[in-house]
Amino acid sequence: MAKEMKMNSRSIAELVFHLGRIASGEGLAENVTPAQWSALRYFALANRFSRTPSAFAAFHATTRGTASQTIKSLEAQGYLSRMRSEDDKRSVQLVLTDKGLGILADDPFESLVRAAESLPPSVQGHFTQALQRMLAQVSRDRGKSPFGTCMSCQQLDSGGCTPEEQVSYACGFTKEPLHANELDGVCINFTPGKPAIVRTSVAAAAPR
Ligand code: SF4
Repeated sequence: MAKEMKMNSRSIAELVFHLGRIASGEGLAENVTPAQWSALRYFALANRFSRTPSAFAAFHATTRGTASQTIKSLEAQGYLSRMRSEDDKRSVQLVLTDKGLGILADDPFESLVRAAESLPPSVQGHFTQALQRMLAQVSRDRGKSPFGTCMSCQQLDSGGCTPEEQVSYACGFTKEPLHANELDGVCINFTPGKPAIVRTSVAAAAPR
């Protein structure tokens, strides 16, 4: 029995790894490397606290130097540009250009999104929770915090309804208010602890 469980665990790990390689775009897309695809996806999803080279390096589990090279190549190709942060004029945020948003429509990762969409909703929910647990375990093994979004973050404060009857939100980590359309952004300050919700397609995400 123990041997059978071990085989299942290894099969799951190999399937996750195989899906990851396919989704990375390895050998599938011309002119855009797997690292560049990863950066394009990251900056499409990252919230305003996380659109920096160092946050991308942490997300991609790479060095700042390697992350900088990837970002520079995307800037040179016109997929990414730099802009001053609205909150802190001294810091710079990286944002996708129209050309960068356009190429995400050809992202090889989208075939994986379509495969996930074909699963029944109940399976999607269980699958998401199982993968979140695996990600948290791997992150603990590596001594790193997992990235995540506001709706499954312990730092999210929901302050009740405003006079316009809209729910107001704030980030307990940065002490800043959050707009409802920011809640789906990937965040470097994410603190796990709430059940995860299913995320929609990267290509469908607009920059926040
Ligand atoms: S609530 Fe959590 S995920 Fe959202 S901005 Fe704050 S730290 Fe980041």
